[in-house]
Amino acid sequence: MSESTIETLFFVYFVVFAAVVIGHWLYFRKKDPVFRWRWHARTILLVGFIIGGYLVVLAGLTSRSWAMAGGALVFAVAILFLNITLTTICHSCGKAAQSQSLTSAAKYCIHCGGPVAPSPLFAPAGAMPPGIQKNPHPGIEEVT
Ligand SMILES: [Zn+2]
Repeated sequence: MSESTIETLFFVYFVVFAAVVIGHWLYFRKKDPVFRWRWHARTILLVGFIIGGYLVVLAGLTSRSWAMAGGALVFAVAILFLNITLTTICHSCGKAAQSQSLTSAAKYCIHCGGPVAPSPLFAPAGAMPPGIQKNPHPGIEEVT
C-alpha cells in the first residue's frame, strides 16, 4: 500500500471521526435527560462500531499484520466496554458523567450533583431511569 493511500485513509478516518462526534453532539444537545439516558449506550455502541471498525481495518491495512489489527480490535472493544459500563447519565441535566476510576461508575452527576444511572443497551420503549417516575399528566409540570 502506497504512502498516499495511507495518508488518504487517515484523513478519511479523522473526517469520519469528527463528523460522528459533531453529529452526535448536535443531535443530543437538545434532547431531554430520559432520552439521553435511554439512547446513550446504543449510540456509543454504534459509534464504536464505526470508529473502532475503521481503526481495526486501518491498523491491518497499514501494518499488513493480523497482530496489529487484533491489537486494535482489543483496544477498541476495551474502550467501548468501559465507555458503556462506566458512563452514567444524569437524570436532572442529562449530561454524561465519565467515571474517575476504571472499576466503578460515578454515583452523582459531576455537573449538577443530580442522580445518575448507566445507560442500558436494551431498554423497552417507555422505560424510565431507576428512581424516576413518568409524569402521569403529560404537559403539566409537576410542582414540588
Ligand atoms: Zn447533572
